[in-house]
Amino acid sequence: MDSLHNGKFNISHETAKEDFSLLLQALDASISGIIITDNRLPDNPIIYCNKAFENISGYSRDEIIGHNCRFLQKEDRDQKERETLRTAIRDGKSCIVDIRNYRKDGTLFYNELYMSPIKGANGQVDYFIGVQNDVTLRKKAELDLRYQQELMERRVDERTKSLKESEDYLASIVQTLRESLIVLDQEFKVLSVNEHFLKTFKVTAEETEGKLLYDLGNGQWNIVALKELLENILPTNNPVEEFEVEHDFPYIGKKLMVLNAHRIELDGQYRDRILIAIEDITDRREIERRKDDFLSIASHELKTPLTTIKGLVQLMQRMVPNEASEKFRAVLNKTAVYVDRLNNLIAELLDVSRIQTGNIELHKEVFDFDKAVQEAVDTIQAATKYHEIRITGSTGEMVSADESHILQVINNLLSNAIKYAPDHKDIDVYLSRVSNFVKLSVKDQGMGIRVEDHKKIFDRFYRVGDIQQRFPGMGIGLYICDQIIKNHGGTIWVESEPGHGSTFNFTLPLSKQPA
Ligand code: ADP
Repeated sequence: MDSLHNGKFNISHETAKEDFSLLLQALDASISGIIITDNRLPDNPIIYCNKAFENISGYSRDEIIGHNCRFLQKEDRDQKERETLRTAIRDGKSCIVDIRNYRKDGTLFYNELYMSPIKGANGQVDYFIGVQNDVTLRKKAELDLRYQQELMERRVDERTKSLKESEDYLASIVQTLRESLIVLDQEFKVLSVNEHFLKTFKVTAEETEGKLLYDLGNGQWNIVALKELLENILPTNNPVEEFEVEHDFPYIGKKLMVLNAHRIELDGQYRDRILIAIEDITDRREIERRKDDFLSIASHELKTPLTTIKGLVQLMQRMVPNEASEKFRAVLNKTAVYVDRLNNLIAELLDVSRIQTGNIELHKEVFDFDKAVQEAVDTIQAATKYHEIRITGSTGEMVSADESHILQVINNLLSNAIKYAPDHKDIDVYLSRVSNFVKLSVKDQGMGIRVEDHKKIFDRFYRVGDIQQRFPGMGIGLYICDQIIKNHGGTIWVESEPGHGSTFNFTLPLSKQPA
């Protein structure tokens, strides 16, 4: 190892030997592996290694000395770090690499290798010193981190892809919808519209997007009432429902449109946007009008011969010969009952068409409300065998109303209570005075009604789901009741839950001039 001599140790031979041994001990005490190779010998063999290097590599000094360092790489020769090392050796430069090495037992360790040349007097590289540290743990942590990063990136990519797919999916639904859609920002500026909007209003996206809603076309949406409702959407989250606009639109002429508008909410994002859906109901309304006309004409045409038939049946009932059989009498009575039923149905249809055309006449008079209710209950009670109707409370008030219409409402509510509670005999009628109204409630213990149907049952021809097959009816009784009560300045509503019976209530204003 005299090759380790240099100027600094240029003292007596004995002292130099001591120093040298001290130096070797110091190198052995290092926790970094240290090797020295002799570049002047063929294949740059290792001429020195310290203890730490033996520990890191698992080889003994004897197995190391004389070998080129490449034995540490075993078969793993395709590492780009080797190129860095080769270049540094060729150019006589120092370098630092993390290289995969293998211990004697074959296990992998990451070697952080700092390699530095030692040059001779003429600048030629005589030796290389390699300082090595086992950085497997750090490298593993780095690799783990990279793996986690890549995993994250892959997940983000996948998520972005699936979001894009759902966006495309939603966009294709929006584009195929048969409704015109507008998205507004909080300033009521149009952010986007769908294809159907452009087609319906025969406009381009450029003419529409970025404009104020109220400036579109010839100001068709610039309606005070609509503005107020739209302004309420964002602060209160109250949607605009079924707002009708009849207008002479540019390019498409006179049309009837119905608007529904909602605040858009997506996981707390886009809270300041409004979605408006517009439907052209011009044709639908026209069809409804024709249907109403038909219904009105048909019921009028049926009414006349039916009145004659009713009269004739009554005449026959009076003229039954004494010797007529029981069967004959029974058939005749049944005919009278069915003619009456038909007559009532046609009367209801006529009522509907009168309401539709606004031809309902009120013959108001002042009458005793409680007495009228009692009479209506008595009449219905007489005709029902199973049910028991009980009146609780009284109003003690006179009302000014069309008595026959009010009786029609009470009859309807009682008949429904009987019809839709076939297995529960108790029907309660509650009477009370509330402020300047009288209030009547009819409570049954029957099938009940789902909340979502509470409003709809007062619509024309609306009947709840599966009722059609089980109970006869046309779904117009409550519609007529609603119209009658509204015409009198009162309100009608239902409180009900499926399986827990229903309570139908109405109010009527008190008569201003008590009799
Ligand atoms: P109809 O009885 O001829 O169907 P109505 O207008 O009187 O017509 O009632 C509309 C619908 O409301 C009924 O079809 C029924 O579904 C529901 N309904 C009315 N009264 C009751 C009631 N007391 N209990 C349960 N459902 C009722």
